[in-house]
Amino acid sequence: MPADSKNKTELRNLPSVDSILQTDTAKLVENKFGRDKTLNIVRTAIDRIRDVAASNGMQSKEAAIAEIERYLQRALSSESKHRIQRVINATGIVIHTNLGRSPLSEAAVASISAASSYCNLEYDLETGARGRRGRQAEKLLAEITGAEEALIVNNCAAAALLVLSTLAKAGEVIVSRGELVEIGGDFRIPDVLEQSGAKLKEIGTTNRTKLTDYERAISSETKLILRVHPSNYRITGFTETPELSDLAALAHKHDLPLFEDAGSGMLVDLAEFGLGDEPLIRSSIDDGADIVSFSGDKLMGGVQAGMIVGRKVLIQRLRKNPMYRALRVDKLAYAAIEATLSLFAQGTAFDEIPVMRMLSISDEDLKKRAVSFVEKASAAKSMKIEIIDGNSAIGGGAAPGVMLPTALIAIEHAKLSANEFASVLRSLEPPVITRLADDKLLIDLRTVAESDEEILLKSINDAA
Ligand SMILES: *Cc1c(COP(=O)(O)O)cnc(C)c1O
Repeated sequence: MPADSKNKTELRNLPSVDSILQTDTAKLVENKFGRDKTLNIVRTAIDRIRDVAASNGMQSKEAAIAEIERYLQRALSSESKHRIQRVINATGIVIHTNLGRSPLSEAAVASISAASSYCNLEYDLETGARGRRGRQAEKLLAEITGAEEALIVNNCAAAALLVLSTLAKAGEVIVSRGELVEIGGDFRIPDVLEQSGAKLKEIGTTNRTKLTDYERAISSETKLILRVHPSNYRITGFTETPELSDLAALAHKHDLPLFEDAGSGMLVDLAEFGLGDEPLIRSSIDDGADIVSFSGDKLMGGVQAGMIVGRKVLIQRLRKNPMYRALRVDKLAYAAIEATLSLFAQGTAFDEIPVMRMLSISDEDLKKRAVSFVEKASAAKSMKIEIIDGNSAIGGGAAPGVMLPTALIAIEHAKLSANEFASVLRSLEPPVITRLADDKLLIDLRTVAESDEEILLKSINDAA
């Protein structure tokens, strides 16, 4: 038989689209993706079999169907991996940017759930007239920080953009060279300034900037003095920067506003947990900053948002800028922020906000939890499992040098490399994200909710 007619005979073994659509796997795929996408996937799978057959010869019909079903399975599991889903953060990095920064408090979750229905977002229940959106959240924010007024936007980057374009457009903004930082995710101070239409006036040096440097730079063009908290980066050694209160006095002497981009958003003093370098928002206001901005999902433990607090006349100007309309947050964000701020106002933040709870657990308590975890890990027989001293990290671009002492559970799998073991744990439901060091898998219970320990334990034991 000539080669191409042999091929034709063999290609009869190629399953039809219809026959594949009858398989259980294809039905699962169709349930998930709908008819059109399923047809596309099935056709692609059949084309692949045909291509392989052209060079290697055709396999049996049954083998071809089995192969196509495996292809469909992979399409399903890849879809489920890319879907946004809850994961267990066993890395010990508290504000883990890649894992969604802050886990929310139960109160915030309940508030989001309530607001997801119709809600009084812009409706005054007393008068039945239109109300101001975000009013309660902003009122709480002002009270907690001791500011005259507050405004909430989409994130801290949006806050900086709104403040600079409202207060400094077409004028000069004075910034120390030591504060021209990049905060990750493409937030670069010089670029934000450029976008806002303000001109950057850099002063001082990378490591030292004096009050007199600021004073000399002030001219009739100056619109604002900007202080940026370097967040994810520290200069140590021979350094100098003026106190915020001195900078405020200088700004006010020249009738200029002082804007501090504080970043991490510390609402209660966390110095005893190593966070003494982070600006306490209330202190910044007390020290005379006219506007302070920070993120809602870093140390505050809420959702992505840019919190702006400061003087009433300035905040009113921000609110009137048409750009605010494009940067404002939605009802779910207000709901979460309002609930989160209420916990600070009530004084229960350390008990109820996960980020605050995780930062404040002592290493003794973590050790106790680790010991009891390891005792229950029946898997320990096929794994070398031990507890070692280590550190957790704050993460989220805050407090880079701060190490929180912790007890790490270090595991060596009998058969799998640490990398392979980590990949197995990531494939579970819910996926477990771990740390790796020296070919050991490390688990830090600091960032694992106590209610999740059972699930984590089962995951480890199952993977043994
Ligand atoms: C994190 C951070 C930002 C960016 O905040 P987002 O809320 O992620 O936009 C801006 N400035 C400083 C100083 C920060 O630490």
